[in-house]
Amino acid sequence: MNIFEEIIANRKPADKVYEDDKVIAIKDIYPHAPVHLLIIPKKQYKSLQEVPSEDLSIISHIAKVAQILAKEFQVEDGYRLITNIGPDAGQAIFHLHFHLVGGKKLGSIA
Ligand code: 5GP
Repeated sequence: MNIFEEIIANRKPADKVYEDDKVIAIKDIYPHAPVHLLIIPKKQYKSLQEVPSEDLSIISHIAKVAQILAKEFQVEDGYRLITNIGPDAGQAIFHLHFHLVGGKKLGSIA
C-alpha cells in the first residue's frame, strides 16, 4: 500500500481539505508555496501515463475539484496544477496526484 492509499483508507493522518466518492485533496506535508494541495484519485493509477482512456473522465473531475479549491483557497487568479510523471519529472509517490500550487509569484516550471 502506498502512502496515499493509506491516507485514503484513513490509516495515516492527513490534513484533508476535500473529499468525494472519486478523490480526496490534502495539504502537502512539505509545502512549496502558501497554498500547496494534492488532489488524489481514490482509484490507484501509477501516474497520468497509466490512466486508461476509458478512465480519463477522472482528469476532468480533478480539474473541477481544482477550480473549487482554487476559489476556496483564494488563488483562482493564479495557480498551477501539476502532475509529475515518472522519476525524471520528480515523481516520488507512484499514485497519480495533482499538485495545486499558488499564493505566491511562481517561478519557471523547469
Ligand atoms: P511527487 O514528487 O510524487 O509529485 O509529489 C509527492 C508529494 O507528496 C510531495 O510534494 C510530498 O511533499 C508529498 N508527501 C509525501 N508524503 C506525504 C505525506 O505523508 N502526507 C502529505 N500530506 N504529503 C506527503
